[in-house]
Amino acid sequence: MDEFNIKFAGLKNGKHEFDFAITNKFFEDIDYSEIRDGNVAVKMEMDKGETMLVLQFDITGGIETTCDRCAVGFTYPIHTEQKLIIKLGNEAVEESDDVIVIPRTEHSISVKQFIYEFISLQLPVRKTACNDEENNDLCDKDVIGKIERENKEKKEMDPRWAALEKLVSDKK
Ligand SMILES: [Zn+2]
Repeated sequence: MDEFNIKFAGLKNGKHEFDFAITNKFFEDIDYSEIRDGNVAVKMEMDKGETMLVLQFDITGGIETTCDRCAVGFTYPIHTEQKLIIKLGNEAVEESDDVIVIPRTEHSISVKQFIYEFISLQLPVRKTACNDEENNDLCDKDVIGKIERENKEKKEMDPRWAALEKLVSDKK
C-alpha cells in the first residue's frame, strides 16, 4: 500500500483531505534524494472537479541537514504552502511548474515526487548552522580546513565540480 498514491477516480467531486507524516522512510524511497532524514507534516487538500484536481499542500516540519561549511548536523525548519493543478486530458504534459496534464484514463496519481520537490526546494543552496545572534561564524575551523582540502582534491579529480562551481559563481 502506497499512501501517496491517490485513487481519485473513486472519490466524489469536491474537497478531500489527506494527512501525511513524513520521516526518513519517505526520503529513502526517493531516488537520488538529497535529504536523508526529517520530520515533516503534510496536509493536502484535493478539490476534485470533472476535468481537474486542485491540490493544496501545507507543509511544515524540519529537515535534517548539515552545515555547508563545517558539516555539523542540524535541523532546518521549513514551512511552505504549494498548489498543484492536475488536469485530465489526452496525454501527459507538464504545462508549467504547477500545472500538469495526465491522461483522463488514469485512475490514480502518486503525489510522492511532488511532495519531495516541494520539500527539497525549501532547502537553501547554502546552509549554515553555526551563526550566533550577531551572525558571527561559529563553525569548527579545523573541520573546515579539512573539508576544504578534501573538496580541492575532489575538484581536481572530477570535472563536474568545475561546471558546478561555475554555475554557483554565475548566480552570485
Ligand atoms: Zn558550520
